[in-house]
Amino acid sequence: MMRFAYLGSGSKGNSAVIEADGTRVLLDCGFGLRDAEMRLQRLDLSAADLDAILVTHEHDDHLGGVARLARRHQIPVWLTGGTLAAWRDAPLELVRCISPHERFVIDDLQIQPYPVPHDAHEPCQYVFSDGARRVGVLSDAGSVTPHMREMLTACDALLIEFNHDAEMLQNGPYPESLKRRVGGSRGHLSNVQAAGLLSSIDCSRLRHLALAHLSTTNNTPQLALALAAEALGCTPDWLVCADQDAGLDWRQLS
Ligand SMILES: [Zn+2]
Ligand SMILES: [Zn+2]
Repeated sequence: MMRFAYLGSGSKGNSAVIEADGTRVLLDCGFGLRDAEMRLQRLDLSAADLDAILVTHEHDDHLGGVARLARRHQIPVWLTGGTLAAWRDAPLELVRCISPHERFVIDDLQIQPYPVPHDAHEPCQYVFSDGARRVGVLSDAGSVTPHMREMLTACDALLIEFNHDAEMLQNGPYPESLKRRVGGSRGHLSNVQAAGLLSSIDCSRLRHLALAHLSTTNNTPQLALALAAEALGCTPDWLVCADQDAGLDWRQLS
Protein backbone atom coordinates (compact mmCIF):
# COMPACT_ATOMS: atom_id res chain seq x y z
CA MET A 1 0.00 0.00 0.00
CA MET A 2 1.22 3.48 -0.83
CA ARG A 3 -0.30 6.76 0.27
CA PHE A 4 0.65 10.41 0.50
CA ALA A 5 -0.52 13.61 2.15
CA TYR A 6 0.56 17.23 2.52
CA LEU A 7 1.15 19.02 5.80
CA GLY A 8 0.92 22.16 3.70
CA SER A 9 2.14 23.63 0.42
CA GLY A 10 2.91 27.14 -0.79
CA SER A 11 5.53 29.86 -0.45
CA LYS A 12 5.05 30.02 3.34
CA GLY A 13 6.00 26.38 3.84
CA ASN A 14 6.00 23.00 2.14
CA SER A 15 5.93 19.48 3.51
CA ALA A 16 4.51 16.18 2.31
CA VAL A 17 4.46 12.62 3.67
CA ILE A 18 4.95 9.60 1.44
CA GLU A 19 4.37 6.12 2.78
CA ALA A 20 4.89 2.59 1.46
CA ASP A 21 3.95 -0.34 3.66
CA GLY A 22 5.78 0.31 6.90
CA THR A 23 8.05 3.08 5.68
CA ARG A 24 7.19 6.75 6.04
CA VAL A 25 9.24 9.73 4.89
CA LEU A 26 8.68 13.44 5.22
CA LEU A 27 9.51 15.44 2.09
CA ASP A 28 10.80 18.90 3.13
CA CYS A 29 9.65 20.83 6.15
CA GLY A 30 9.15 24.56 5.86
CA PHE A 31 7.12 24.74 9.08
CA GLY A 32 8.27 25.52 12.62
CA LEU A 33 8.53 22.68 15.11
CA ARG A 34 5.21 23.07 16.88
CA ASP A 35 3.39 23.87 13.64
CA ALA A 36 4.87 20.77 11.94
CA GLU A 37 3.92 18.58 14.90
CA MET A 38 0.35 19.90 14.82
CA ARG A 39 0.11 19.33 11.09
CA LEU A 40 1.42 15.77 11.51
CA GLN A 41 -1.18 15.19 14.22
CA ARG A 42 -3.90 16.28 11.78
CA LEU A 43 -2.78 13.30 9.64
CA ASP A 44 -2.81 10.99 12.69
CA LEU A 45 0.98 10.92 12.73
CA SER A 46 3.64 11.98 15.15
CA ALA A 47 7.25 12.83 14.34
CA ALA A 48 8.30 9.54 15.94
CA ASP A 49 6.53 7.77 13.04
CA LEU A 50 8.94 9.26 10.47
CA ASP A 51 11.81 7.11 9.18
CA ALA A 52 13.53 9.93 7.29
CA ILE A 53 13.29 13.50 6.10
CA LEU A 54 14.14 14.11 2.44
CA VAL A 55 15.05 17.61 1.35
CA THR A 56 14.66 19.04 -2.16
CA HIS A 57 16.68 22.26 -1.72
CA GLU A 58 17.76 24.87 0.79
CA HIS A 59 15.04 27.51 0.37
CA ASP A 60 13.38 28.36 3.65
CA ASP A 61 9.90 27.21 2.63
CA HIS A 62 11.36 23.67 2.29
CA LEU A 63 14.30 23.49 4.71
CA GLY A 64 13.35 26.07 7.36
CA GLY A 65 11.92 23.60 9.86
CA VAL A 66 14.07 20.54 9.13
CA ALA A 67 16.95 21.06 11.60
CA ARG A 68 14.79 21.42 14.70
CA LEU A 69 12.43 18.60 13.78
CA ALA A 70 15.30 16.24 12.92
CA ARG A 71 17.28 17.08 16.09
CA ARG A 72 14.29 16.86 18.40
CA HIS A 73 13.23 13.45 17.12
CA GLN A 74 16.61 12.13 15.87
CA ILE A 75 15.38 11.64 12.30
CA PRO A 76 17.96 11.10 9.53
CA VAL A 77 17.96 13.74 6.78
CA TRP A 78 18.75 12.87 3.15
CA LEU A 79 19.88 15.59 0.76
CA THR A 80 22.41 16.51 -1.94
CA GLY A 81 25.89 17.80 -1.12
CA GLY A 82 25.04 21.17 -2.65
CA THR A 83 21.98 21.56 -0.43
CA LEU A 84 24.04 20.53 2.60
CA ALA A 85 26.72 23.12 1.74
CA ALA A 86 24.05 25.83 1.75
CA TRP A 87 22.55 24.70 5.08
CA ARG A 88 23.91 26.67 8.04
CA ASP A 89 22.48 24.77 11.01
CA ALA A 90 22.69 21.26 9.54
CA PRO A 91 22.56 18.47 12.14
CA LEU A 92 25.63 16.80 10.61
CA GLU A 93 25.34 13.63 12.69
CA LEU A 94 21.92 12.97 11.12
CA VAL A 95 22.78 13.85 7.50
CA ARG A 96 22.98 11.32 4.66
CA CYS A 97 24.33 12.73 1.39
CA ILE A 98 22.88 11.57 -1.92
CA SER A 99 23.67 12.06 -5.58
CA PRO A 100 20.74 13.63 -7.47
CA HIS A 101 21.27 10.94 -10.13
CA GLU A 102 21.41 7.77 -8.06
CA ARG A 103 18.52 5.71 -6.80
CA PHE A 104 18.56 4.83 -3.10
CA VAL A 105 16.40 2.80 -0.76
CA ILE A 106 14.93 3.57 2.66
CA ASP A 107 13.41 0.31 3.92
CA ASP A 108 10.30 -0.35 1.74
CA LEU A 109 10.65 2.83 -0.33
CA GLN A 110 12.73 3.03 -3.49
CA ILE A 111 13.62 6.62 -4.22
CA GLN A 112 14.85 8.04 -7.51
CA PRO A 113 16.11 11.63 -7.21
CA TYR A 114 16.46 13.84 -10.26
CA PRO A 115 17.92 17.33 -10.74
CA VAL A 116 15.72 20.30 -11.64
CA PRO A 117 16.47 23.85 -12.86
CA HIS A 118 15.87 26.10 -9.85
CA ASP A 119 17.83 28.93 -8.28
CA ALA A 120 19.33 26.83 -5.47
CA HIS A 121 22.71 25.07 -5.09
CA GLU A 122 21.89 21.48 -6.08
CA PRO A 123 18.09 21.14 -6.12
CA CYS A 124 16.50 17.78 -6.82
CA GLN A 125 13.04 16.25 -6.79
CA TYR A 126 12.02 12.64 -6.24
CA VAL A 127 10.05 9.69 -7.58
CA PHE A 128 8.99 7.18 -4.90
CA SER A 129 8.12 3.54 -5.51
CA ASP A 130 7.19 0.44 -3.53
CA GLY A 131 8.34 -1.69 -6.45
CA ALA A 132 4.92 -1.69 -8.15
CA ARG A 133 3.53 1.84 -7.94
CA ARG A 134 5.24 5.16 -8.60
CA VAL A 135 4.58 8.51 -6.95
CA GLY A 136 6.32 11.40 -8.73
CA VAL A 137 6.94 14.74 -7.04
CA LEU A 138 7.92 18.00 -8.73
CA SER A 139 8.01 21.51 -7.34
CA ASP A 140 10.34 24.48 -7.55
CA ALA A 141 11.46 24.17 -11.17
CA GLY A 142 11.56 27.04 -13.64
CA SER A 143 11.42 24.87 -16.75
CA VAL A 144 10.83 21.28 -17.81
CA THR A 145 13.78 19.26 -19.11
CA PRO A 146 13.58 16.01 -21.12
CA HIS A 147 15.11 14.22 -18.11
CA MET A 148 12.29 15.45 -15.87
CA ARG A 149 9.73 14.13 -18.35
CA GLU A 150 11.49 10.78 -18.40
CA MET A 151 11.38 10.59 -14.60
CA LEU A 152 7.71 11.56 -14.25
CA THR A 153 6.27 9.47 -17.04
CA ALA A 154 3.95 6.53 -16.21
CA CYS A 155 3.41 7.43 -12.56
CA ASP A 156 0.37 6.29 -10.56
CA ALA A 157 0.30 9.57 -8.65
CA LEU A 158 1.81 12.97 -9.40
CA LEU A 159 2.33 15.86 -7.00
CA ILE A 160 3.10 18.77 -9.30
CA GLU A 161 3.80 22.45 -8.84
CA PHE A 162 1.24 24.78 -10.42
CA ASN A 163 2.85 27.93 -9.06
CA HIS A 164 1.41 30.86 -10.93
CA ASP A 165 -0.72 32.14 -13.75
CA ALA A 166 1.73 34.00 -16.00
CA GLU A 167 -0.67 36.88 -16.58
CA MET A 168 -1.51 37.32 -12.88
CA LEU A 169 2.23 37.31 -12.09
CA GLN A 170 2.92 39.90 -14.77
CA ASN A 171 0.09 42.20 -13.69
CA GLY A 172 0.40 41.48 -9.97
CA PRO A 173 2.01 43.36 -7.06
CA TYR A 174 5.45 41.66 -7.03
CA PRO A 175 8.49 43.90 -7.69
CA GLU A 176 9.96 43.48 -11.20
CA SER A 177 13.03 41.55 -9.94
CA LEU A 178 10.85 39.01 -8.14
CA LYS A 179 8.56 38.66 -11.17
CA ARG A 180 11.62 37.85 -13.27
CA ARG A 181 12.90 35.34 -10.71
CA VAL A 182 9.58 33.51 -10.28
CA GLY A 183 8.82 33.49 -14.01
CA GLY A 184 12.42 32.69 -15.06
CA SER A 185 13.84 29.38 -16.25
CA ARG A 186 15.21 28.67 -12.73
CA GLY A 187 12.11 29.91 -10.90
CA HIS A 188 8.73 28.24 -10.62
CA LEU A 189 6.39 26.40 -12.99
CA SER A 190 3.44 28.35 -14.35
CA ASN A 191 0.06 26.67 -14.83
CA VAL A 192 0.73 26.47 -18.57
CA GLN A 193 4.17 24.91 -18.08
CA ALA A 194 2.84 22.34 -15.60
CA ALA A 195 -0.11 21.48 -17.83
CA GLY A 196 2.29 21.21 -20.78
CA LEU A 197 4.37 18.72 -18.80
CA LEU A 198 1.26 16.61 -18.14
CA SER A 199 0.33 16.58 -21.83
CA SER A 200 3.83 15.48 -22.80
CA ILE A 201 4.18 12.42 -20.54
CA ASP A 202 2.39 9.08 -20.25
CA CYS A 203 -0.50 9.64 -17.80
CA SER A 204 -2.34 6.40 -18.61
CA ARG A 205 -1.62 4.98 -15.13
CA LEU A 206 -2.34 8.20 -13.32
CA ARG A 207 -4.95 7.84 -10.53
CA HIS A 208 -4.04 10.84 -8.36
CA LEU A 209 -2.98 14.33 -9.35
CA ALA A 210 -2.28 16.82 -6.57
CA LEU A 211 -1.52 20.41 -7.55
CA ALA A 212 1.01 21.98 -5.21
CA HIS A 213 2.96 25.16 -4.37
CA LEU A 214 0.18 27.40 -5.69
CA SER A 215 0.88 31.11 -5.21
CA THR A 216 -1.82 32.82 -3.15
CA THR A 217 -0.98 36.11 -4.91
CA ASN A 218 -0.51 35.01 -8.51
CA ASN A 219 -2.82 32.02 -8.90
CA THR A 220 -6.17 30.55 -7.97
CA PRO A 221 -7.04 26.88 -7.50
CA GLN A 222 -9.79 27.30 -10.14
CA LEU A 223 -7.35 28.46 -12.83
CA ALA A 224 -4.80 25.75 -12.04
CA LEU A 225 -7.38 22.96 -11.81
CA ALA A 226 -8.99 23.99 -15.11
CA LEU A 227 -5.69 23.83 -16.99
CA ALA A 228 -4.68 20.52 -15.40
CA ALA A 229 -8.06 19.00 -16.24
CA GLU A 230 -7.80 20.22 -19.81
CA ALA A 231 -4.32 18.70 -20.19
CA LEU A 232 -5.55 15.34 -18.91
CA GLY A 233 -8.94 15.42 -20.61
CA CYS A 234 -10.75 14.88 -17.32
CA THR A 235 -13.10 16.90 -15.10
CA PRO A 236 -11.55 19.15 -12.41
CA ASP A 237 -13.39 17.38 -9.57
CA TRP A 238 -11.08 14.40 -10.09
CA LEU A 239 -8.08 16.57 -9.11
CA VAL A 240 -7.02 18.10 -5.81
CA CYS A 241 -4.99 21.11 -4.68
CA ALA A 242 -2.66 21.01 -1.68
CA ASP A 243 -3.47 24.04 0.45
CA GLN A 244 -1.03 26.27 2.35
CA ASP A 245 -2.93 25.99 5.63
CA ALA A 246 -5.06 22.86 5.30
CA GLY A 247 -2.49 20.77 3.40
CA LEU A 248 -4.03 17.71 1.77
CA ASP A 249 -5.57 14.71 3.52
CA TRP A 250 -4.30 11.19 2.81
CA ARG A 251 -4.68 9.93 -0.75
CA GLN A 252 -4.31 6.20 -1.06
CA LEU A 253 -3.04 4.30 -4.10
CA SER A 254 -5.08 1.13 -4.51
ZN1 LIG B 1 9.39 26.52 -2.71
ZN1 LIG C 1 12.69 27.06 -4.04
